[in-house]
Amino acid sequence: MTATTTETTVINHFINGAETAGEGDRTTNVYNPATGAVTGELRLANRADLDTAVAAARKAADTWGDISLAKRTAVLFKFRELVAAHVDELAQLVTAEHGKVLSDAKGEIGRGLEVVEYACGIPTLLKGDYSDQVSTGIDVFSFREPLGVVAGITPFNFPVMVPLWMAPMAIATGNAFILKPSERDPSASLLLASLWKEAGLPDGVFQVLHGDKETVDGLLTHPDVDGISFVGSTPIAQYVHETATKHGKRVQALGGAKNHAIILPDADLDNAADHLAAAAFGSAGERCMAISVAVAVGDAADALVAKVQERAEAVQVNNGTEPGAEMGPVITPASKERIVKIVTEAETAGAAMVVDGRDLVVPGHENGFWVGPTVIDHVKTEMTAYKEEIFGPVLVVVRVDTLEDGITLINANPYGNGTAIFTSSGAAARKFQRSVTVGMIGINVPLPVPVAYHSFGGWKASLFGDKHIYGPEGVSFYTRGKVVTSRWPETHHASGASYNFPSN
Ligand code: NAD
Repeated sequence: MTATTTETTVINHFINGAETAGEGDRTTNVYNPATGAVTGELRLANRADLDTAVAAARKAADTWGDISLAKRTAVLFKFRELVAAHVDELAQLVTAEHGKVLSDAKGEIGRGLEVVEYACGIPTLLKGDYSDQVSTGIDVFSFREPLGVVAGITPFNFPVMVPLWMAPMAIATGNAFILKPSERDPSASLLLASLWKEAGLPDGVFQVLHGDKETVDGLLTHPDVDGISFVGSTPIAQYVHETATKHGKRVQALGGAKNHAIILPDADLDNAADHLAAAAFGSAGERCMAISVAVAVGDAADALVAKVQERAEAVQVNNGTEPGAEMGPVITPASKERIVKIVTEAETAGAAMVVDGRDLVVPGHENGFWVGPTVIDHVKTEMTAYKEEIFGPVLVVVRVDTLEDGITLINANPYGNGTAIFTSSGAAARKFQRSVTVGMIGINVPLPVPVAYHSFGGWKASLFGDKHIYGPEGVSFYTRGKVVTSRWPETHHASGASYNFPSN
């Protein structure tokens, strides 16, 4: 697939309150995946750029961490208003570089805004505990302080939402935040930076540093970075966690997924098929909470597959800016090639192709990175299509006999991000929710992404570190606790020194 070069934009860093070219001389191309055209030339940071950003963050953290909660909250409220006023502009940037359809891009911005709104309540979230008179004349209280400088390293698939899972929480809790966005769709992060500035955030508190492995490694090992939030694929999440913890940092690293949905014969199969199709093909399957494995139990299988087929064949695949488009392209030609290879391997190994999107071409966009909705039935667990995260619009169907078999399958899978069950039985749903080794569970809900006041995180190979992201665990991740034991004697009683361990 050849990319056509049109007019390209140079994409800068945002350091210490201003866009800057930085000193690095390496760049990389940014594409519009629907047209295949190169649309941007992204500057990649070098060591000097990294040091400049970290130094600005350190300086900013010292004052921002000390600023009153009232002033911090005022900035967050203003930022919330500005993001809401720029949804269309942000969505255009997302669609142009990621490829997802505009309505879906707006959806991700909405979910990111939820976290900003949650962070607006930071005075309540940071309220400490107080124990009066724990011993005669002694009180104990606890409160939390910011970590200092934290970096967020984010994936391509949610260029607004995932940065907003991190930055509002880190900033509300008093940290300076350096965003290292995905190099595939970096432009939205610059608009976010200018909105933070317009909201009154002091320079250096939110910065954007573009780069690849070199920049990430610099952040993971920099002595002046205190914490790392990472979201991306499992091998990189594991690497980030290991490297940054070895360098003394607090780390949360969210990884990849292979989300299963169990469909029981007592489910409303039309409802289940609607939700499965949406969860498998929405955003071209490039969601960490996408349902990529349908586990059809017993008699549900034949009818379910027929209903999903109908829906898959009806999906409108087009450039995300076209009215009526329901699904856009995948992110790169390499991604397309990989998806097609995995599907072909499954077919060769004996799986049944129900809907085949491998050869899809969208008229007028022949150079786009297209894969159509694909449904593969009778997939076996030893096939790559089952074992690997495909991260494309491919739903594999595994047939099992019982609910217990389905649960065993899910628990044997190395990933544990999300899962769902479709059923009309409360007992089955309860058994499922209590048995699966997965962090986020949907009951007749296909994409159980928790609302902002709960926290988001998977189990097993889907999360390295112990803190989930945003919500109460986000507050905890970006802060550390202090406990003060205090005595203010009214008069000094000269009872002499006691050398015993203090007790009540
Ligand atoms: P990725 O792991 O390739 O990249 C994520 C980030 O890591 C990017 O900023 C990238 O520049 C950086 N990076 C890439 N290779 C690196 C290396 N060798 N060393 C250091 N840094 C490196 O992921 P992606 O392709 O951008 O995103 C898709 C993946 O993210 C999928 O696996 C998806 O499941 C996962 N994801 C997970 C969640 C979640 O919440 N668990 C959410 C969104 C996406």
